[in-house]
Amino acid sequence: MDTEHVSEPVIAIDGPAGAGKSTVARKLARSLHLDYLDTGAMYRALTLVALRRSLDLDDEKALGEMVREMDIKTEYKARKRPPYRVLISGEDVTANIRTREVSAHVSQVSSHLTVRREMVKKQRQLAEKGGIVVEGRDVGTVVFPQADIKFYITASVKERSKRRYREMKKEGYEVSLKSVQQEMVKRDHLDSTRAHNPLKKASDAIAVDTTSDSATLVTRKMLKITRERLGQVRGRR
Ligand code: C5P
Repeated sequence: MDTEHVSEPVIAIDGPAGAGKSTVARKLARSLHLDYLDTGAMYRALTLVALRRSLDLDDEKALGEMVREMDIKTEYKARKRPPYRVLISGEDVTANIRTREVSAHVSQVSSHLTVRREMVKKQRQLAEKGGIVVEGRDVGTVVFPQADIKFYITASVKERSKRRYREMKKEGYEVSLKSVQQEMVKRDHLDSTRAHNPLKKASDAIAVDTTSDSATLVTRKMLKITRERLGQVRGRR
């Protein structure tokens, strides 16, 4: 895959859990020499801190304050292993935010309006210079409604569960495919039915189904679309 430099675009990538957003978002960022922000990691980091402090996860005010005070840094270095790191007050929590416990509670934490408002502010600050691929659930609809390009990545529930199951087994979890699917369906339901900024496809987002294509093929298709679109955007600027 060849690489090239494009100036300051914002690429928004949304979609449900396990659809392959992170994989394609990072490949896209790497190919186009763009930065990368995983907004899901930010909600996960908040959930981790709240769980560590045994906070009531329905205490919207306390959670909102916690976001305001949270010293969160994300680092993306395409050629490093791991390429993406999340730090809270200097502590590397990249692995800690991926636990089953955090996954089980993150939708509850991220459902609160105050939490979302504060997170959106932080995400806009982190991406203010542009030149970035941002992935999440509400990036194209709320965080960056003016993004240059928006993708909505999906795959069948069966395929998404299989992928997450394989990942979790690799990480050493004793899980069944059935339980992984149940947890995923539950999280998707909570994320897409919440009152504030629910998961949904922006009307101008390009839908990409990754059920039967490899991440490489999907990225190639997305790169082609991105280059065409960016060419048009630059022409208009
Ligand atoms: O992308 P990931 O699966 O790591 O996201 C974890 C959770 O964070 C989601 O299930 C959702 O509850 C929340 N989230 C969100 N808005 C975003 C990104 C993630 O509410 N933009």
